[in-house]
Amino acid sequence: MPNVPRGKSFAIAIAVYALIICLTAIRSRPPSAKGADAPADEFSGARAWSVLQELVGDGVPHPVGSEQSSVVRARIVSELTQLGYQPQVRGGFACDAYGTCAEVKNVVARLDGRESGAAVMVAAHYDSVPAGPGASDDGVGAASVLEIARALKMSAPPRHPVIFLIDEGEEAGLLGAEAFVAGDPWAKDVRAAVNMDNRGTSGPSAMFETGSANGWLMRMYAGAVRHPDATSIFYAVYKLLPNDTDFTVFKRAGYQGFNFAFIGDVAHYHTPLDDFANASANSIQQEGGSALTALRALANSNLQFGGDSEAVFFDLFGWKTIWWPAQKTIYFAALSLALLILEIVILLRREQMRMKNLLWGVVIWPVMIIASGIFGGTLYFLLRAAGALPTPWVAHPVPMLIAFWALGFLVAATLGLTFWRFAGFWGLWSGVWIWWVMAAVVLGLLAPAYSYIFVVPALAAGICGLAILFERSDGGFAGAVAAIVPTIVAAAIAIEAIWFLYDALGGISLIVITILVALISTPIAPLAGTVSAGKRWFVPGVLLAAVIIGAGVALFMPFFSASSPESLNLEYFQNADSGKTYWMANPASERLPRSLINVGNFSNKKMVVYPWSAKGAFAADAPILNLASPVLTVRSVSSSGGKWRYDVLVRSPRGAPVISLAFPPDAGVESVSMQGQAIPELAPRMLRYTHGWRPYTCRSSPAGGIEMQFTAASAKPVQLFLLDESFGLPPQGAFLQRARPATTVPIQDGDATLVMRHVTLKPQ
Ligand SMILES: [Zn+2]
Repeated sequence: MPNVPRGKSFAIAIAVYALIICLTAIRSRPPSAKGADAPADEFSGARAWSVLQELVGDGVPHPVGSEQSSVVRARIVSELTQLGYQPQVRGGFACDAYGTCAEVKNVVARLDGRESGAAVMVAAHYDSVPAGPGASDDGVGAASVLEIARALKMSAPPRHPVIFLIDEGEEAGLLGAEAFVAGDPWAKDVRAAVNMDNRGTSGPSAMFETGSANGWLMRMYAGAVRHPDATSIFYAVYKLLPNDTDFTVFKRAGYQGFNFAFIGDVAHYHTPLDDFANASANSIQQEGGSALTALRALANSNLQFGGDSEAVFFDLFGWKTIWWPAQKTIYFAALSLALLILEIVILLRREQMRMKNLLWGVVIWPVMIIASGIFGGTLYFLLRAAGALPTPWVAHPVPMLIAFWALGFLVAATLGLTFWRFAGFWGLWSGVWIWWVMAAVVLGLLAPAYSYIFVVPALAAGICGLAILFERSDGGFAGAVAAIVPTIVAAAIAIEAIWFLYDALGGISLIVITILVALISTPIAPLAGTVSAGKRWFVPGVLLAAVIIGAGVALFMPFFSASSPESLNLEYFQNADSGKTYWMANPASERLPRSLINVGNFSNKKMVVYPWSAKGAFAADAPILNLASPVLTVRSVSSSGGKWRYDVLVRSPRGAPVISLAFPPDAGVESVSMQGQAIPELAPRMLRYTHGWRPYTCRSSPAGGIEMQFTAASAKPVQLFLLDESFGLPPQGAFLQRARPATTVPIQDGDATLVMRHVTLKPQ
């Protein structure tokens, strides 16, 4: 066939592809931190880094209500005072829709603007989980707020006042933010907030969530932020996930604004490894620098947010944010559809392509996508069956990532080559782009956030396809342009989103990665057949080798390491009713390390001890220590209208900071309050998890006990369980902690001691 590009077009396309992958790898790192000598009105990663060391350098966890939490709070107050602010500590008792409450103490400060009234806010939380010192989650956010407060003092006052909020109790359930929006006198002034909170200790800081006026905000972000990292795809995916930060509460309060996070080294998240040594000055620079820029833009704007329009957006290699209002996508899609139809008609009329070729091309594209899903899914389940991927993230994911990327490419290239003789170059080209255009049209209408992946390359294909108009006899050059340019465009805008999928979502994303890589490889498929017969299978051969070697190596790499460990908490559990006591261990991989099996007589089946949680743990008999069990005292019971109102005091005689009270599904309990604070109706998501049980928890229990009130629907006795939790093991558990291998690490609450008992309350 004379009318096809030369074989070297394929080589060019592959080379550019490889270049774009390298560029993505390079550009996906945060920029270098600015030094301590950076101009005073700028954000300096080095200065924020010193503040971070000041705040959390001692490495002591500081969960809500703890003594160390007061220490960190005092450091924040002192920093703000030194900067010339008048910080206040304000808060109260707050509860969330998961039945968790705590007394929180937020640090707030204020910078006056040229106008009064409507204000903007920058926020982070200073509490950590009990297991680790929370240097990146969210000491980095707190240190960044302080560096931003410093930089703003050094520049001309903004138009609107700026409120600084460094809150407590985020880890317990966004409680500091809840207390702020519910009761802080400044909360009603806030129109927009910039929030920082991290799920890892390194990597680029992405702007992954905005307020509801997404279109208005993205125009501002694109114009202001210099190292952008944002895509409407991740924002859309984030909205589907059950994850929350303080920004969830701010949005509910009607604030607009931006939410920033970095997610590299997720194995450190909520563990002792989230410490100062593992924090990244470069990540701080990108996060704090972007937050300051966005905050300044908001503070100097008119704060007249234009409606709730959505935007389609993505950054190009961190250089520039491309965005447009979502409703425009469909026009771009329609234009590319019109161009493509015109080109297909010309190709058919000139007989550069027959109808038969076109039909084959149309059939092959979905076959490529479906096949990539099947092969990706098969490889994923084979690897899992062979024991790889015991947890969503492993210590050495690169071989696996290579295998799944290569597999996506391999499927598209192989099917392209196989069907080339039926479809030919132009049949494949037309078939591929018909589907891209159709996807752009459908997504443009139904889910514009995802549409840019399709609509931009489809438009490029439509425009570049016009080259056939100018090349009458031989479609070689036109074909090369029409195939290579949109291929490059597809790679340039899609590879970054694929690159971060694994960090964001873990192992299950590998199947999606295969499909997406196959998808962005389909524009190359028409070129695969232009290679001379002898060399045609070289690239697929290399890809197949990469799949086999990558998957093989992944199987033999250790899944966990000291710097990327699996989580494993050790607990001492005492059932005060039966007198039984256990050591409990819950490795994330569900495999108990040999060293623990050797020292403790652990069951090989998991045991469930909490009636409201199906999640069990490996258990071993433990010495009976007769720890004092939590106490419930009935202060009064009254009845009215057939309902019984209980007023009780719950207390941990051994001073455990966390106390829970759990009602079975049939207890008929409602209107629960703690310390006089009404607890919201429990979220359906929570009740599904607990199978209808209603646990209520206080995470900052005062020594005198917690006052609780609740109403029972009938006169029948109320059954409940009381559970208290203190952090750390009793001294008798030291042998277990010594036996815990370096490839495991405590997470969240960390090692803990728990005492549970059953209580029956009678109305009289
Ligand atoms: Zn956090």
